[in-house]
Amino acid sequence: MRLADRVAIVTGGGSGIGRGIATVFAREGARVVIADVNDRGGQETMNSIVAAGGAAAFVHADVSVAADARRMVETTARTYGGVDVLVNNAGIAIFKTLLDHDEADWDRVLGVNLKAIFLGSKYAIPEMQKRGGGSIINIASVHGFATALNVTSYAASKGGVVALTRAMALECARDHIRVNCILPGAIDTPLARQNVVEVMGIAEAEAQTQLLIDMEPIGRVGRPEDIAHAALFLASDESSFATGAPFIIDGGLLAKL
Ligand code: NAD
Repeated sequence: MRLADRVAIVTGGGSGIGRGIATVFAREGARVVIADVNDRGGQETMNSIVAAGGAAAFVHADVSVAADARRMVETTARTYGGVDVLVNNAGIAIFKTLLDHDEADWDRVLGVNLKAIFLGSKYAIPEMQKRGGGSIINIASVHGFATALNVTSYAASKGGVVALTRAMALECARDHIRVNCILPGAIDTPLARQNVVEVMGIAEAEAQTQLLIDMEPIGRVGRPEDIAHAALFLASDESSFATGAPFIIDGGLLAKL
C-alpha cells in the first residue's frame, strides 16, 4: 500500500487518465476525492472504487471556477480530515487554428487547463501545509514541449503548465510540498479520440486506434494506467527528491524527429 493513509484529490476523475489515476491511487490505499463536471462519469469512478473495497467520494466541481475549486478542497478536508495529494488532471481541447479561435474558446481552454491549477493549488496548499507536506501532480502534455497544427490554445496552456509547475515547486519546496508534472503522449481516452475525429476526420474506431498506435514509436497506444503509475510514483515517498520536474511518459513520441 504505497499511499496508505493519504488523501488525494483527482480532478477530471470521471473519465480517461483521471479515472485511471483515481483507481490506482485507491488500490494503493489512498482515500480519493474525484472532482468533475461530469456527474455520471465521476460517480461511476467512485462506485467502482468502492465496489473494489476502496474509499472514494465525488464532488461536482468546475475546476476553472474559484468557488468550485474551494468547495472541492473544503469538502475533501471535511470528509477525510485533510489533503495530501492534488492531481490537477482535468483538461479540454479545442482543435482550431489561432485565427479560428474566438476569445471565449481561448478563455475556456486556458481556464480549465491552466487557471484551474492555480485555483486548486491555491486552496489545497494551505491544507498540505497543515499536514507538514504534500505532492501536487499537474497533467501537462507532450504539447508543452513540441506541438502540431490546430492545437493553439491547448499547446499554450500545456506550456504554461510546465512553467507553472516549476514556479510552484520553488514556492512550496521549504514546506515539503513537491510539485511535478507529467507529459503524456497519445493515451487512449475520449479526448485523444476527439482529436483524431476533429483534426483528422477519422470517424471509424478501429482506424482511430491505428492512427494513435502509428504516432507511438513504442508500437502501442498509451493506457490511462501508464500515466497512473507515473502519478503513483510522484504521489508516494519514493519520489521524495523530485520536484519542479516534467516527467515525459509518451512511448517515445517526443524522441522522434
Ligand atoms: P477525458 O476527456 O477522457 O477526461 C477529462 C475529464 O476532465 C472529463 O471527465 C471531463 O468531464 C473533466 N473536465 C473537463 N472540464 C472540466 C472542468 N472544468 N472541471 C472539472 N472537470 C472537468 O481526457 P483525458 O485524455 O483523460 O485527459 C486528462 C488530462 O490528460 C488532460 O489534462 C489532458 O490534456 C491530458 N492529456 C491527455 C492526453 C491523451 O492522449 N489522452 C495526452 C496528453 C495529455
